[in-house]
Amino acid sequence: MLKSSASPNSMDQRNLTRLRVLEHIRAKGAISRIDIASALQTSPATITAATADLISAGLIKEIEGEPQSKTAKRGRPRVSLQLDGSSFIVAGLKIARHVISVIIVDFEGNEVASHNHPLDHARMTPSAFVSAIRTALEEACALMDGSLRHLSGVSIGIAGLVEADKNFVHWSSSLTERNVDLSRLLEAELPFPAFIENDTNLVAKAEQHFGLGKGLRNFLVVTIEHGLGLGIVLDGKLYRGERGCGAEFGHIKVQLDGALCQCGQRGCLEAYVGDYALIREVTVAGQGKGTETVADIRDSARSGDQRAISVLERAGQMFGLGLSNLVNLFDPECIILSGAQMSFEHLCSEEVMNRLQSGVVNVDAPLPEIKVNHWGDLMWAKGAAAYGIEQVSILKVKELAAHAS
Ligand SMILES: [Zn+2]
Repeated sequence: MLKSSASPNSMDQRNLTRLRVLEHIRAKGAISRIDIASALQTSPATITAATADLISAGLIKEIEGEPQSKTAKRGRPRVSLQLDGSSFIVAGLKIARHVISVIIVDFEGNEVASHNHPLDHARMTPSAFVSAIRTALEEACALMDGSLRHLSGVSIGIAGLVEADKNFVHWSSSLTERNVDLSRLLEAELPFPAFIENDTNLVAKAEQHFGLGKGLRNFLVVTIEHGLGLGIVLDGKLYRGERGCGAEFGHIKVQLDGALCQCGQRGCLEAYVGDYALIREVTVAGQGKGTETVADIRDSARSGDQRAISVLERAGQMFGLGLSNLVNLFDPECIILSGAQMSFEHLCSEEVMNRLQSGVVNVDAPLPEIKVNHWGDLMWAKGAAAYGIEQVSILKVKELAAHAS
């Protein structure tokens, strides 16, 4: 059960209906059976059966809503259904270079606790990686006077190439090894299901559910942190690619035989834009004494340091070029720039937008909107939590089927 993410693909019709009802209730907050039946174009009898099953599993509960109408006899209260927030507690977790961010949420997505666990090493062996995850979760659980046993699942966001439905990491800057099957290690270390996903996909999910992507059909999310990520939402669905690897925007080539990237190849966009690349450039020039962060480089640029200015300008030009390639490929409604570095204007400056515009194939229509989202560090973990709730919901609905048969 713990070896792979839960997929609705293998569900029978009855379970798919239960899941659709559950997701509809999640989207609407509180809703009556008859309104669910009408919205999902399903018979009231089917909805009554599905909601009874979901109530018995503790996933939803009945509440007394407003009377149906003022003229209704004796004002018989209308019964609505809503999620049972207290039923399950789920953790979302994001692995960054120096910290693991954890957020614990109830089944409705309300924050119960959040915690940052510092990391001594950016790259870890698979077993050190999983043990750090366990420690971070234990510390977060202690904040709510609980233990790991209180959690129903955890979703883990990690940079790199991830096959989400197998908890398999092809490559990640957080791991010392390639081609790591984390399912067994996670199963041995954690008493509940764990779901690994590419961190940018999780941000795309967060943007789609409660961010700037809400209501959009086709949009892209570019995350900029240690590296560059791309989340692709097409026709309302997250596009993961055939191997489940998502999209590696950071590793599109912008220079033949160019700068060395941390993936081992040369000329990747990330090798010019990622924070490690900026710090490396300044340090190589011998002017990087005390330069540890991109903020340091920006401070130097502000005080007129020519090297810092040119490094940031080149990053901006390369980034604009990359964005124009995205527009040419996808023609999205909107591109959302998201991540810790996004408070830095060098990647959304007028020069960058000019470079973007000059690289886009000319048509007599406005360019897609470029939006900047200044979310805090917890954004990643919140996206993970949203994915965790989705996965736990699927598992619980599948368990229902097992009990019923
Ligand atoms: Zn690369």
